[in-house]
Amino acid sequence: MNELLTECEKELTPRFMEIEDVAYHNQVKVIEAFSSERVAAMHFSGSTGYGYGDEGRSTLGRVFARAFGAEEGIATPHLLSGTHTLTVALFGVLRPGDEVLCVTGRPYDTLRGVISGKGGGTLEDYGVKFTEIPLLNGWFDLDKIKVKINRNVKMVYVQRSRGYELRDAFSVEEIGELIKFVRELGFLGCVFVDNCYGEFVEKIEPPDVGASVTVGSLIKNPGGGLAPTGGYIVGDKEYINLIGKRLTAPSIGLEVGSFEQGYRTFYEGLFLSPHVVSQAMKTSLLIGLSMSKLGYENFPSIDKMPYDITRAIKFNDEKKMLSFVREIQHASPVDGFADCEPWDMPGYDDPIIMAAGTFVSGASVELSADGPVKPPYIAYFQGGLTYEHGRYALERILAKIA
Ligand SMILES: *Cc1c(COP(=O)(O)O)cnc(C)c1O
Repeated sequence: MNELLTECEKELTPRFMEIEDVAYHNQVKVIEAFSSERVAAMHFSGSTGYGYGDEGRSTLGRVFARAFGAEEGIATPHLLSGTHTLTVALFGVLRPGDEVLCVTGRPYDTLRGVISGKGGGTLEDYGVKFTEIPLLNGWFDLDKIKVKINRNVKMVYVQRSRGYELRDAFSVEEIGELIKFVRELGFLGCVFVDNCYGEFVEKIEPPDVGASVTVGSLIKNPGGGLAPTGGYIVGDKEYINLIGKRLTAPSIGLEVGSFEQGYRTFYEGLFLSPHVVSQAMKTSLLIGLSMSKLGYENFPSIDKMPYDITRAIKFNDEKKMLSFVREIQHASPVDGFADCEPWDMPGYDDPIIMAAGTFVSGASVELSADGPVKPPYIAYFQGGLTYEHGRYALERILAKIA
């Protein structure tokens, strides 16, 4: 099996060089963001209580904004997960009577219970209408968008990555085309991008093509494997102000928030992120090509450069899917001795099996795999802090299922 991987690596050399070129570009971008915001050791210190004048917190938000090409930003441990970050951003921007057009079909599983349902304080409870427009042959359904955009539509919602759907991630350029299209229709509201898993995969980010609000998790790409928790929101000043008021209180906004442990891991994680993402991307290509050669259909197509760090592998076989996920676990530095079992995770409809032998609990920028255990038995794989770790896991997987 070693020979198969070596053969794949040879074949992937030009693609790997392309990935390294993106990593270099993004590394420079991040360092320049640090230096423009004059990041110094004092910013790593923590604070307690209200955290008034906590420079580490406020500077971190601005560094994120700059690194993503946005006006303003929030990046903080007080955003507890990707779902929480998206929720705060949505409730910050939207008001009763507003309508949201989700142009990428069904949003990510854990968002559905934020959007609709009665009694839990959902967007629906607050009188916000959320309309999903399914993709048409993998592309935005422009005709339907044109029909549905009206005066009440205050937000166009875009999910860059696939979630648990079988479609490819959108590139930033593609999102840019969509934004151009809705702006030409006269849409003046908020273009909102769930950027999870897409950060630093390309040389540009959604704010570069006109996204108003861009959101993601710090235990995915931009935390670089070091951030212990948190989320980020970057975008136009007016929206970040509103979202800041929702994160804390309308009378307070972004003036408060302390974190006694300090912010070094958030800064250092952002610094490492472009490289870490390149390692995850190389791992994804190696898994994609080797599994294709063995006859397993997987997405995105191996002929295409992926636009996020995830890969879906279709097993059509429960045992092989479970083996794949379990070997990712067995190859992990933490809890490598454990066997994963499917469980009913909060926020998901089907039992989910999840391999996450990670240093930061549940961090999917680290080598991880998961998926709902149901036909056609698709495992969703992502991450890897080092390419070597990904290769080692793959050797173990191939020994089990090839
Ligand atoms: C991971 C993810 C989320 C939610 O993030 P959590 O941290 O798991 O709450 C939302 N959208 C997409 C596309 C994701 O990949």
